[in-house]
Order: sequence, then structure tokens, then C-alpha cells
Amino acid sequence: MADKRDYYEVLGVAKSASDDEIKKAYRQIAKKYHPDLNPGDKGAEMKFKEANEAYEVLSDSDKKAKYDQFGHAGVDPNFGTSSGFGGGYDFDIGDIFSSFFGGLGGGFGGFGGGRANPNAPQKGNNVSAVVTISFEDAAKGIKKNVEFQRIEGCDVCNGTGAGKGTSPETCPDCKGVGHVSVQQRTPFGVISTSRECSRCGGKGKIIKDPCSKCNGIGMVRKAAKVEVNIPAGIDDGQVISVRGEGNHGINGGPQGDLRVSINVRPHPFFERENYDVWCEVTVTFMQAVLGDELFVPTLDGRVKYNIPAGTQSGSVFRLKERGITHLNGRAKGDQYVKIIVDVPTKITEHQKDLLKKFDDELIDRPVRYTDGPVAPNKKGIFDKIKDNLKGDK
Ligand SMILES: [Zn+2]
Ligand SMILES: [Zn+2]
Repeated sequence: MADKRDYYEVLGVAKSASDDEIKKAYRQIAKKYHPDLNPGDKGAEMKFKEANEAYEVLSDSDKKAKYDQFGHAGVDPNFGTSSGFGGGYDFDIGDIFSSFFGGLGGGFGGFGGGRANPNAPQKGNNVSAVVTISFEDAAKGIKKNVEFQRIEGCDVCNGTGAGKGTSPETCPDCKGVGHVSVQQRTPFGVISTSRECSRCGGKGKIIKDPCSKCNGIGMVRKAAKVEVNIPAGIDDGQVISVRGEGNHGINGGPQGDLRVSINVRPHPFFERENYDVWCEVTVTFMQAVLGDELFVPTLDGRVKYNIPAGTQSGSVFRLKERGITHLNGRAKGDQYVKIIVDVPTKITEHQKDLLKKFDDELIDRPVRYTDGPVAPNKKGIFDKIKDNLKGDK
């Protein structure tokens, strides 16, 4: 549209030109560029079409007035109907219009190659919202009030767009049909075509006294609050669709949907892997050596677990079905607990002596890498590689 030429320029007339002057100018151009007189000339054909379009607007007092005020946007069908273009809105008009026309690409586009039937019922647009929940709530499910903005039917005019005590009237130009037949005189005869009624924008109805709240659109933008049932097992980034809680439908079409993106706050202690929960539990050296009774935190509170004597650092044990409930199911994941043996960093001289004694008395002593270049009683790493090669053949 940016590259669209000014209609007055196309016809070569001044803005103050009279109806007769416009008509005369059009005739001259139409004659010059008519396809019958310029066969195969694409440039001429374009100029002819351009002139036709310009004339269609500038010869129509209603469209001409809108064009004079708003430019091409004022007469482009994608910028609203004659009843909806008034100016002075105190809400986001772009949203309302995107609600009107946003869905045209899918489903209603095939209307003679032009715009969709302005009276066809059309589903309202979907509306997106984000809700943040805790790790526990994601695991167990929760009901949340989600607040967002959507386009609703105007409650002052009940969606008709007509002012108090009035109602939309049948369009006198098209008698409610939405289309008018146009007789175009050209030097080569009269061409009769049917086009959308410009007065009512094809709706067949006009609003003489627009509703003061919605300015005749029949819809307003409003804050909404909807309780959303977030199922147990939902994960970060997943989206819940709530049918019929989106934008208001057009011409009695169904309401759009609400699409709620779930944002799960990370937990300081638990980590999720599919439906399993992982955590780390730190024990002292003595607990690891002797074994102990632990109370391990889970999503269901603390659970008793006995670690056996000789538990190695890094070993993992499983708490069956202490994980997350499967989405849309009853099964539960497990909890995995990784044991970390704490190595003290601050010790007293007395503790040092005790440790030395303890170490000297170790029975099943592991390889001491401090003993020298060759580890006793163990195969060297090169022997191991040789063994592997033999086995491979
Ligand atoms: Zn209203
Ligand atoms: Zn009409």
C-alpha cells in the first residue's frame, strides 16, 4: 500500500476538482489505456486498472470523503467498515481490527478472490496468557486464576454497535443485500458490475447513532479473569488451551480460545527429569561408613530411608513413586536421591591425629598413588589396553 499512487495524481486532477472534472479526466485516461486499444501492453493494462480504482473512489462521495480524510486506509476494506471508522477511540483499535480480520486467511479467504463475506460468522482470535507456578504445583496440579485482556461484546449496546434506544437500520443503498450493481459508462459501452455496498461495507445494515462506549464496533477490550485447571504433571513451557475464553466471535461466531503458557519456577532442591525427581542429600563421612536413618525430603514431605553401612559418595537410591504424577494419568514417577559424602574442610589438630590413626588402621586399603610410579597388585593401564586388543582380534 505504501507504493500506491495518490488517486488524484492517477487521474491528473486537483483535490478541488469537481465531479465533472473527475469524470472527464477518467474518460481520457480510460480511452488512452484501454486494453482493447493496447493489446498485450501490460503497462497500459496496469494504468487502466489504476484509473478504474481511482475513479471508483473519487466518484463516490462517501468513499471520496473517507479517502480525503484517511488516505488509502480510509477506503481499504481491510481497515474496517463504514460504520466502524469514526476516530476518537479510547482503546486499542488495532486489536479490535485484528480481531475482526485476523482470521481471514484461514477458512474465509475464498470469497471470489476478494475479502470475506462481512456477515459470515467467524471464530474470535485466540488470546495468550502466561502463568507462573511453583515446582510443587506443577507436580500435583493446581487451579489458578489467570488474568489477561480480551475483546468482549459491548455490554452497553449488546454488541449491536447502536446507541442507546436505537438499533442498526437496513442500509438504504443496498436494501440490506450488501451489494450494489454499478453501471460504468466507458467510451465503449456500459459495463455493469456488482460490488460491495460502500455505505454499509457489505453488512446490509448501518448504524446512524453509534454506541458511545464501543463507537459502533459492538466490541470492547476488557480485563478478564478465568480460573484455569492446571493438571498435575504439567511441565515448564507447556501450553494449556481453554476453549471459548478468547476474543469475542464475529457475527455470532464462537469465541476464540485462551492459550495459557506455563512457567514453572525452578525448585531449590529438586530437579525434574520427565516425571522423575532428582535430589542430592549430603551425609557425613561417619554416616556413610556406618550407615544411618535419613529423613529425605520428597514432594510428599520427609520420607524415612536407611542408607546402608559403606554407602559410597555419588551412589543413587530410588524412592518408588515419590515423583511427579503423569500428565492425564495416574502413574507416578520416582524420586532419585544422590548421596554426597561431605569432606570436612575445617578440622582441629586433634581431629588430624585421629584421622591419621584411622588411616593407618585401614583394612581394605585402596591403591595409594603416593606410593610410587607403579601401583602394586594392579595391572598397568597399558596392560589393560593390550588385553582389550587381544580380545578384539
Ligand atoms: Zn457498544
Ligand atoms: Zn449497504
